[in-house]
Amino acid sequence: MTVTVVNPATEETIATLDEAGVEEADAAVARAKAAFPGWRDVTPRERGRLLRRLATLVEENGEGLARIESQNVGKPIAGARGEVAMVADVFHFYAGAVDKKHGETIPVAGGVDMTFREPLGVVGLIVPWNFPLNISSWKLGPALACGNTVVLKPAELTPLSALELARLALEAGIPEGVINVVVGKGRIVGQRLVEHPDVAKIGFTGSTEVGRGVMKGAAETIKRVTLELGGKSANIVFADADLDQAAGAAPYAVFDNAGQDCCARSRILVEHSAYDRFAELLIEATRGVTVGDPTDEHTDMGPLISRQHRETVASFVEGEPLFRGDAPDSKGFWYPCTLVEATNDDRVAREEVFGPVAALIPFADEDEAIRIANDTPYGLSGSIWTSNGARALRVARALDTGVVSINSNSSVRVATPFGGFKQSGFGRELGMHGLDGYSEVKNVFYSTEG
Ligand code: NAD
Repeated sequence: MTVTVVNPATEETIATLDEAGVEEADAAVARAKAAFPGWRDVTPRERGRLLRRLATLVEENGEGLARIESQNVGKPIAGARGEVAMVADVFHFYAGAVDKKHGETIPVAGGVDMTFREPLGVVGLIVPWNFPLNISSWKLGPALACGNTVVLKPAELTPLSALELARLALEAGIPEGVINVVVGKGRIVGQRLVEHPDVAKIGFTGSTEVGRGVMKGAAETIKRVTLELGGKSANIVFADADLDQAAGAAPYAVFDNAGQDCCARSRILVEHSAYDRFAELLIEATRGVTVGDPTDEHTDMGPLISRQHRETVASFVEGEPLFRGDAPDSKGFWYPCTLVEATNDDRVAREEVFGPVAALIPFADEDEAIRIANDTPYGLSGSIWTSNGARALRVARALDTGVVSINSNSSVRVATPFGGFKQSGFGRELGMHGLDGYSEVKNVFYSTEG
């Protein structure tokens, strides 16, 4: 069996790989298990040095990695370079974090009580196709820093950058068996990792539907899970906001990565009194998004990941939209930037589109904005645009989401925690919080009596 890897911008096959099954997954787990005692015992200083070396190699090989990611996912090359730069930063951060996650000493009677953060053992990392390298690094960084060994399962559609990263890790001197990549189907290889008795934890990023199955499967062996799932984030624009700025930034917040972004602000909530003006400005800004060849330095948005996914995205647009942009009519899974007007009860506002379709939804006042924003099973990220600082913080506290930005649409930074509320999952990645999910607290009491 083989996996055929396709460039979504040309529909050409760019690689054919052997497809792993249960046997290969088991072998990868066995390699990781054998490597664990050695990796756990590597001194913090040396583990940090190896991660820093990996970060440096990612920088040195940045252009090649960006090209792989651009070809395999259809990402515009400029954006892919930025993503690879973040991958290097993530490894730099966790290289520095290895010896900074301390234990405690706790005052107790009769002795000394102290805590340690112990690695879990073998961890299974299951990642999606939309940010293959970035999301892999968000899990690999803390997992390796804490002393775990890993089996990484990239999405079937986008396995190439993970394989290249594993090669760089060996070149950096990270021992054989510490990072193992298996390329295979989610319901076979992924499922096997979830059920495998020697896998201590699953770090999963993907859809809420599959995440639900991962959580169920993990119950059998009481595996730890971190779930980074879907989103339906609101971009809330109050009438007192700098409308030019809010409208100018809104397309990037939903059309970046062709809308295939769990943080996509695909519900744009606008206060009634500013709605018409904002819609005009938003259409103008969206017209400025250049859709086309991902290898072109000036391209803002590439194609969708697959033909099947394009059909799903198209099914969300019923009737004539408020605005539809241009897209190439050549080969490739192209879909134009699309703006629709909606209520929060419409399917386009309830389900994750995962494509370049944004819904404009009007609201009357602050209370209604909060109610609409929270009226979703998801809770990943969101934005608030206003010039009223008190309101900004009031609304930020009222939103049921893990990440909020004020007068900005950015959700992700290397040093800050990222993760969801509600059905967007649980656990946090990035920053020092990311280490919590890859280590277990051990409490040791040492008697001083006798
Ligand atoms: P998906 O859930 O279909 O697949 C994710 C991964 O899970 C893939 O590697 C897949 O092979 C694997 N998988 C599939 N079935 C499995 C099973 N039964 N057992 C174990 N693993 C299995 O998601 P996708 O289509 O690759 O990615 C898009 C989804 O990911 C969207 O819902 C998006 O919101 C979400 N996402 C979330 C975040 C976040 O941080 N919250 C980030 C990026 C993407």
